[in-house]
Amino acid sequence: MAFDKGYCKTDCTRCSEVCPAGAIKKIDEIEKSAISIGHAVTVPQNCLLGQGVACNACSRHCPTGAITLVDDASTGHKVVAVNENTCIGCGACEHLCPVRPFSAIYVEGREVHTTV
Ligand code: SF4
Ligand code: SF4
Repeated sequence: MAFDKGYCKTDCTRCSEVCPAGAIKKIDEIEKSAISIGHAVTVPQNCLLGQGVACNACSRHCPTGAITLVDDASTGHKVVAVNENTCIGCGACEHLCPVRPFSAIYVEGREVHTTV
């Protein structure tokens, strides 16, 4: 999935409804919100926190609370930390990160989906 134009919303099951081939399982919103299709990976050298900018767009919009901002003793700045066990790979962080052209956080898909 490409998250430059949008992200996968936890309360949406549209792909499951419209897939004509049955390739996407029919799921309801509750099931959907617990399925992890990927996990976020940070790119610290791109992150505004490293420049002393008080950005928290990714952590503020993460629907599962998987992102925390933690102290980096070596720089005195905060850094983004992702809990892979609770990340569902929705891409909100990647889409809403203001850094362009390459966001400071992106989603790597899982070969096999998991549940959180
Ligand atoms: S992809 Fe980003 S916003 Fe979505 S659950 Fe994972 S860390 Fe949170
Ligand atoms: S939204 Fe992007 S720039 Fe802002 S803290 Fe998160 S990763 Fe860093």
